[in-house]
Amino acid sequence: MEAVKGQRRGAEYWYDMLDTQEGRGGCVQVGKRNRDGTMFNSDRNTEVSALAPHGCRRRRLKVEYDDTGGAAVKTEPWEPPHWKDQLACIRTMRSRRDAPVDQMGAEKCFDTKAPVRRFQVLVSLMLSSQTRDQVTAAAMQKLRAHGCTAGNILATDDHTLGTLIYPVGFWRNKVKYLKKTSAILQEQFGGDIPSDVEGLVRLPGVGPKMAHLAMDIAWNQVSGIGVDTHVHRISNRLGWVRKPTKTPEDTRRALEEWLPRDLWSQINWLLVGFGQQMCLPVGPLCSMCLNQHSCPSAHKSSPAKKPHRPTPPSRIKTEPENEAAAEHQGAEKDPGYRPASLPQQIKEEDET
Ligand code: SF4
Repeated sequence: MEAVKGQRRGAEYWYDMLDTQEGRGGCVQVGKRNRDGTMFNSDRNTEVSALAPHGCRRRRLKVEYDDTGGAAVKTEPWEPPHWKDQLACIRTMRSRRDAPVDQMGAEKCFDTKAPVRRFQVLVSLMLSSQTRDQVTAAAMQKLRAHGCTAGNILATDDHTLGTLIYPVGFWRNKVKYLKKTSAILQEQFGGDIPSDVEGLVRLPGVGPKMAHLAMDIAWNQVSGIGVDTHVHRISNRLGWVRKPTKTPEDTRRALEEWLPRDLWSQINWLLVGFGQQMCLPVGPLCSMCLNQHSCPSAHKSSPAKKPHRPTPPSRIKTEPENEAAAEHQGAEKDPGYRPASLPQQIKEEDET
């Protein structure tokens, strides 16, 4: 059904669209809905039916009117002007699949046997928030060696669990969330995870992004686009949202309005890897980006608009996403840096 906007003192009118074999024949009024919601047929209904040419197909159209304009305005679906070319360029730039997310994303951090596999997918997604993929993968490796099941997490004391997942971002909060979530999953789902978004977002520490990714990776069902900080940032830079969005949730809704559903699953890892290697949060490498001629944000965030010597692909940097990652990068730069052993460091932080 098509929708057409126009003005008619706030009332809605129903029209019949008459199509002939040569094309659309015109539209005629057949009914009206008052402001109070009551509907009645127009007197013209009979006339119109009688006038309909022999063999015409009749389709019912809803016509909506606003109080501002006079002429009817047809609402068209919106999509970004260059998105197909831009997506093709991103695919090309991601063809080597050598971003951290390709080697250490949530799809790579679990055992193969269900339902433990699904539980571990959820745990790795919970740990990945505000954390680099390398740090998440290392924490998952330690957790799996320890025994990453809901029952085993419940049986592990907080200090040991903290030692296992350190230094993921907000690790203290995540210890609490893991404990609470494991208790719910053990009690209500037999150690498995809910099979719908509504059930997943009810778990402590699980938001919409994790829920949609968990549905995709753990249950192989696409329920929505997983929008993290990379997808949110790049969508706004490329103009893939009709109006600039402030939160990842707003971006998810804006993308789902136009992006074909068969791309919802792959758009996350495509953009995450692109954001890790090229469209960095600070200092995106626009001069090397294949989208620099169509991207409305090209060279606006780069420290140098036209660098004389572009960074070789093998030295493309990745961004620190949290303090722990920044600390690790600082350690690489400072030869005198001597981190304390992890349990000792945790103890010291706990005491402050
Ligand atoms: S041109 Fe720059 S801002 Fe635009 S997508 Fe490429 S790296 Fe990102």
